[in-house]
Amino acid sequence: MFEKVLIANRGEIALRIHRACREMGIATVAVHSTADADAMHVRLADESVCIGPPQPAKSYLNMAAILSAATITGADAIHPGVGFLSENADFAAMVEEHGYVFIGPSPEHIALMGDKVRAKEAARELGIPVVPGSDGAVEGEAQARKVAEQVGFPLLIKAAAGGGGRGMKVALHEGELMQAYSMARAEAKAAFGNDQVYMERYLGQPRHIEMQILADGQGGVVHLGERDCSMQRRHQKLLEEAPSPALNAAERARIGEIALKAMHRLGYRSAGTLEFLYENGEFFFIEMNTRLQVEHPISEAITGIDLVREQIRVAAGATLDIRQEDIKINGHAIECRLNAEDPTTFAPSPGLVTDYHQAGGLGVRVDSHLYAGYRVPPYYDSLVAKLIVHGNTRNECLMRLRRALEEMVIDGIATTTPLHQKLISQPDFIDGNYDIHWLERWMKQQA
Ligand code: ADP
Repeated sequence: MFEKVLIANRGEIALRIHRACREMGIATVAVHSTADADAMHVRLADESVCIGPPQPAKSYLNMAAILSAATITGADAIHPGVGFLSENADFAAMVEEHGYVFIGPSPEHIALMGDKVRAKEAARELGIPVVPGSDGAVEGEAQARKVAEQVGFPLLIKAAAGGGGRGMKVALHEGELMQAYSMARAEAKAAFGNDQVYMERYLGQPRHIEMQILADGQGGVVHLGERDCSMQRRHQKLLEEAPSPALNAAERARIGEIALKAMHRLGYRSAGTLEFLYENGEFFFIEMNTRLQVEHPISEAITGIDLVREQIRVAAGATLDIRQEDIKINGHAIECRLNAEDPTTFAPSPGLVTDYHQAGGLGVRVDSHLYAGYRVPPYYDSLVAKLIVHGNTRNECLMRLRRALEEMVIDGIATTTPLHQKLISQPDFIDGNYDIHWLERWMKQQA
């Protein structure tokens, strides 16, 4: 097993990884920008190294600085967390070339799934159902028109290098096609430096359902059931639940079986997530995330499996000691993403946290790097706390979530807590009756 792991991230996820390491008796190295010198992950880690100024490109995305920090501290492995370099195949390869273990999948699998055009092709070959659309990239306006004729409207133009919902444009009818096509390309170019796009059918009322995979790359593959991430704004998840209120055991087993076979054939290693849209009883693959996900704790809550510990174990060469038949879905879990944002305008709200108290009690977990007196820097993601609640039933989970949200105190900055409080009291949400467009529809009615 590793003796020392460098955590190439910040915020709550850096803490999450630190905790798994400490429980395994592994020492941790925090890296941080100058803006994060007082951050909780820096305070708790055994050692810390400043890797640059606040701008992510000069610190948390600075591969040379991170590798130097690993060298100086004598770390033997690097965990990339989520975001930043976690899906950067070049970084994973560089880590390995320098003699460190990358806690994640192989660089080849990261590269394959990071190119969504190639990923969809691979998915199809692996027997995974995909959203109908273009065969590969759409190069030029003439081809865009031709594909549109075959796929039909409404359709979605998506960036091959996409992520975070960027570079995605809907064309409702033919009149919108050319503008949507050129806008998607321009946005993709600006965000990812790559203007390759592809097209697919725009589904009207799907749910976003994703399967959590865990694999050792040595023949062992299990899934931890699904998460329902349909509560979204601008293609960004706000609240997630597991299991999905829309799936029954037979449907779960069916998609689980497909996922297991595919990951087995791919020879995948580490944690990963297959994302699907689910409409009228059918699953359509949209992408695979080759990393830990923000919403992983709800899968941990219903299965009792520590995903980060398993990632570390398989990265160190261990095989999975869990078999699919040992995994039982136990009760229900919901995660609320508490962002430092205005709950109605979503304007970022960085600044000084004057008071902080986190909810507790049976079935309540809070993953957060906040403390009273901490200043949320303006340079990074606005996620400041994840409230994760577990109950024996969905109803118990909802009751517990309601009271846990009441207990949360984050003063001095605005957070999305009041939005969550309103959301979870909506009859549609209580009934589990919502698709990926529900939240935006509901917010329009509120305005
Ligand atoms: P990203 O990597 O940018 O997050 P995804 O492919 O994961 O992009 O899609 C993000 C979200 O966009 C999905 O959860 C869903 O809400 C929406 N979306 C993606 N593809 C489609 C589609 N074909 N039809 C309708 N909505 C879609």
